[in-house]
Amino acid sequence: MQDYQLRQRDYLLEISRAMTSRLDLESLLELTLKSAVEILRGQVGLIVLRGRDDVLRVRASYGLPAGLARFFQPLWADLPGMRDRSGLRDTLSRWRIPDLQMRLGMVAAAAGLALSQVVALPLVIEEKLIGAIYIFRTRGGAFSAADQALLAAFADQAAIAVRNAELYQQVSDERRALEAIIDNSAEGVMILDAAGQIQVFNRALAHMTGWDAQEALGRPAAEVLVLRDRQDQPIPLPAPPPHRASAAEARAYVEGDVVRRGGPPLTVGVTATPLYDEEGILARAILNVVDITRFRQAEELKSTFVSVVSHELKTPVALIKGYAETLRREDADWDRDTMRESLDVIGEEADHLTHLIDSLLEASRIQAGGLKLEPTDVHLPRLAEKVVEGFRTQTDIHEFELDFPPDIPPVWGDPDRLREVLSNLVSNAVKYSPDGGTVWVGGRVDGSGVTVYVADQGVGIPPEEQGRIFDRFHRVETGLHRRTEGTGLGLYLVKAIVEAHGGRVWVESAPGRGSIFMFTLPRR
Ligand code: ADP
Repeated sequence: MQDYQLRQRDYLLEISRAMTSRLDLESLLELTLKSAVEILRGQVGLIVLRGRDDVLRVRASYGLPAGLARFFQPLWADLPGMRDRSGLRDTLSRWRIPDLQMRLGMVAAAAGLALSQVVALPLVIEEKLIGAIYIFRTRGGAFSAADQALLAAFADQAAIAVRNAELYQQVSDERRALEAIIDNSAEGVMILDAAGQIQVFNRALAHMTGWDAQEALGRPAAEVLVLRDRQDQPIPLPAPPPHRASAAEARAYVEGDVVRRGGPPLTVGVTATPLYDEEGILARAILNVVDITRFRQAEELKSTFVSVVSHELKTPVALIKGYAETLRREDADWDRDTMRESLDVIGEEADHLTHLIDSLLEASRIQAGGLKLEPTDVHLPRLAEKVVEGFRTQTDIHEFELDFPPDIPPVWGDPDRLREVLSNLVSNAVKYSPDGGTVWVGGRVDGSGVTVYVADQGVGIPPEEQGRIFDRFHRVETGLHRRTEGTGLGLYLVKAIVEAHGGRVWVESAPGRGSIFMFTLPRR
């Protein structure tokens, strides 16, 4: 073998070794260029590559003082663009940059270098012209066809290096994009290895479980995402089959309540999707965790609604029907008093039904965002007196006291709605103090408005219920609360009306001693 062929083989070997040792692209191009210059007995070399913007730029140079590379631009000024396939085919078939030698003269003069010969070859990947390699001589004869053939091997190496770098970049870009997608997904996502240990744990899941990613990584999934059912029994996480199965068999889904470190309870649905290796053995599992709390709540609300409505409607309807049928009996001749009492009951129960239906309509109107106020100046003591008056006749065991300062200013509100608020609160105060006692209705002027209160000496409300009693249909389900009739709509309406007035409502209560409901109303 000829000497230079041996040397070429050595150079190429060195370059491929460097490639497998994962040198960065810049060093690989420099090594390739240096080898090519040496073997072609040149003095100067350049590699230009296209950037993402399709512009060719010098990416490696050899034997060239810094800053001079820019003078060489005319040598590649009219190479066809990356996407220009037809231009490329022409360029490759007659790969001779037109007037190359003449352009070299201009470049050499501009750069002040004594360059006399040039050979150039394209760098091509998958029929795309990604750049070119140039070798120059300052002395000696022109490059031969054999030189050009030698250079081709180096051009191929440089193209492969670029291709590898592109692939590597693509993979890491994709990985970064995937990581960003997973991390920013609104769903909880974790990726488990074959042993069920956490490899990836996203932000949503950190929020759902209260574990942060750093703590969770490397732990068994079952330790971090703990699920329980309504009876507080543990629910195992879904586990895909260890060997490849049909898509339907492989996907597994469970629902349960997350045992959470801090934060309100959460109901989730967990789907496990397996990834199998080529041999069909489980390599990883992806767990998607969706917060279905609201969905569950909506379902529960619906069934509560149905049971409350049917229960609350049934009693008055049964009474009305019972009394009406009794009165209608052909064989009976009722005296006037019995008639009147029965008709009173029918009337009261019909009122009760009307009130219930109004509350339901009102609640659904509020839900639809349609609570309209007709505000005017409202004198609270007078309004409270009217409300209390209605209750005085209904109970013998309760005392009512009004407690407003004489100079209390009028508030700006809808009198009918505010009457409803007071009447719901006073009705509750009576309902939930079955042993009687005093019910106070009063108000105080404070900074920006008026605070109104309704206090009783009744059964009180357990602290853990105090935040929820204002929710739609929420009722306390223990002891006397359970035995007292109601829909759980009263306080929901109170809250909606007070908030529509720009105020807020809250409760303070000591179980067994009584409750105080308070709300604020802004002054006119
Ligand atoms: P209900 O129709 O059940 O009375 P509300 O929305 O008015 O519905 O009240 C919700 C729950 O709050 C009630 O079921 C009751 O358990 C509790 N509650 C309301 N007011 C009082 C009160 N003054 N004393 C004790 N518990 C009360």
